Amino acid sequence: MTQSAQQDRLPVRTVRWIGSGVFELQLERKDLPFSPGDCLALYAADGRVSRPYSIASGTGEDVLRFLIRRMPDGVVSGFLSERAPGDEVRVSPPFGWFRPGEHAELRPYVCIATGTGIAPFLCRLRSDSARPPHMILYGVRDAEDLYDPEWLAAQCDVRIAVSREDAPGVYHGRVTGLLDMLPDGKDIDYYLCGLDAMIDEVTDHLEGRGVAITRIHRECFFNASIP
Ligand SMILES: Cc1cc2nc3c(=O)[nH]c(=O)nc-3n(C[C@H](O)[C@H](O)[C@H](O)COP(=O)(O)OP(=O)(O)OC[C@H]3O[C@@H](n4cnc5c(N)ncnc54)[C@H](O)[C@@H]3O)c2cc1C
Repeated sequence: MTQSAQQDRLPVRTVRWIGSGVFELQLERKDLPFSPGDCLALYAADGRVSRPYSIASGTGEDVLRFLIRRMPDGVVSGFLSERAPGDEVRVSPPFGWFRPGEHAELRPYVCIATGTGIAPFLCRLRSDSARPPHMILYGVRDAEDLYDPEWLAAQCDVRIAVSREDAPGVYHGRVTGLLDMLPDGKDIDYYLCGLDAMIDEVTDHLEGRGVAITRIHRECFFNASIP
């Protein structure tokens, strides 16, 4: 069997629930090469229907981690949430064009995420801890959905927003309520990932500050207009 054929299906190591609707899926990596920001298409039971998911593990780890929101009646997220250790999941080769921190040697960068949109930034932090972002703004609906906030806070300046409850020590509201905290400077790269409405609002805000659109890098996971 060729290496690519072996990598077409990867064994599940574990499914770990973060909150009631968000889980971390871990697959054996089997030496699959990837770059921070890459996605894999993960397939449902029939091996035909797939969705893209961003890799959340570091390039030096022997496991592939994915941070996934289980959608109501979701064909692929529902299937993945019910996997057990040793089950196999069909995967595509890695692909992607979103490259958080790719110019970190030249200039500072800032990351802004909603929900599971933190995944590519986790990958970036785990892959190159020597060049963390200047700041991360991280918004979730419920505090239970936060992915390891203590670890994140130890890596860089992280500001958290929780929109649906008044949780201790964090901003109560949408992540866009934290935009005034962003550092000033036109020579910063901004990486936005998650809900389209957040991405549009933050883009408008940054352009209003005079940031060039070429410094604003965007990856949309979810569309707010889908009911
Ligand atoms: C480049 C890229 C990377 C992504 N990475 C991640 C990731 O790391 N983690 C993660 O949790 N998700 C990620 N997504 C979203 C993911 O690909 C799926 O869209 C999501 O898991 C739903 O698939 P499903 O088969 O479970 O739901 P479906 O069976 O397709 O749909 C179930 C219900 O959810 C609604 N729905 C489906 N997809 C969306 C959507 N994108 N936005 C709003 N409503 C939707 C449908 O309208 C339907 O009502 C990413 C998307 C893109 C484009």
